[in-house]
Amino acid sequence: MSATTPIVNRLALIGTGLIGSSIARAARAYGAARSIVATAHSAATRQRVSELGLADRVVDTNAAAVAGADLVIVCIPVGQCGPVAAEIAGHLAPGAIVSDVGSVKGSVVKDMAPHIPAGVNFIPAHPVAGTEHSGPDAGFPELFVNRWCILTPPENADATAIERLAAFWRALGANVETMSAEHHDLVLAVTSHLPHLIAYTIVGTADDLQTVTRSEVLKFSAGGFRDFTRIAASDPTMWRDVFLANKDAVLEMLGRFNEDVSALTRAIRRGDADTLFDLFTRTRAIRRGIVEIGQDAAAPDFGRPHPAHPSVPLPRPYATDGE
Ligand code: NAP
Repeated sequence: MSATTPIVNRLALIGTGLIGSSIARAARAYGAARSIVATAHSAATRQRVSELGLADRVVDTNAAAVAGADLVIVCIPVGQCGPVAAEIAGHLAPGAIVSDVGSVKGSVVKDMAPHIPAGVNFIPAHPVAGTEHSGPDAGFPELFVNRWCILTPPENADATAIERLAAFWRALGANVETMSAEHHDLVLAVTSHLPHLIAYTIVGTADDLQTVTRSEVLKFSAGGFRDFTRIAASDPTMWRDVFLANKDAVLEMLGRFNEDVSALTRAIRRGDADTLFDLFTRTRAIRRGIVEIGQDAAAPDFGRPHPAHPSVPLPRPYATDGE
């Protein structure tokens, strides 16, 4: 998958957590950028990025990172995007592309666009790929392979710049789709934001139960609950910002969800077996569809490795010695 000629000359990464460090690793592995300059908020993270050798240069300020870069990707919590855009605005090279990876697009456009100077191409993006881990150690080069990266270019965006950013993401292994920021926020509210809200809620509810001890919750965490705990372990800063930034779309989806939960509650109370069976049949088909298009594996338990069972002889209660 290595690009024959690098798509960008100098890539600047502002923020080098899970997503930023994965972009750095992938750009290196697949030859998508000739050189990489990176920065992060704290000296400790910058130090770690240097130790991991993720960039050709690690610099102390966002302004220093973007100087001379032809592609700048802001990989920070969405609540920080406005102030950071103001910080880098005066240091961007003419003709550069400024992008981001935020999980919400409408608020990022509103907060960043006013600061981007004329002659610089602002093309927001969201790689729909991630894990519940954070920080520079959590990244890996294959994170974006066969995942979607959604671009939400403003209407007047330069077509060549859009295609260049798309080519960059394709070089990292992603499939690229373009849509409006508003539509993105509605789609992601139902596919990502609401599921996270449900996971945070159910894990919190279990934790609050008085009649079930915390150790029982941990000990008997069956598949369903355990998968919710993985999602609910996601970064609190990132997700706080997502819900604040995508308030309208999340509230819209939450309203629909509450209506559907009420309908299911009624079905359970009335013993309406058909309603339950029909819904579960429909949702099973959705899961199969996701596996069929290669967005997840069909392996049981999401392909988690299991320690091999020790090989012990089967008990033979009815056998006599020497049989
Ligand atoms: P992360 O692992 O917590 O990393 C965030 C990075 O941003 C850190 O390096 C942090 O530096 C840096 N940062 C924060 N404020 C900054 C500032 N003002 N100036 C410079 N750097 C700053 O987060 P992440 O998971 O990579 O998420 C980053 C973005 O990607 C978010 O907008 C999120 O919505 C989006 N996203 C996340 C996922 C996911 O699954 N995690 C998936 C797709 C998109 P310090 O470490 O020094 O604080």
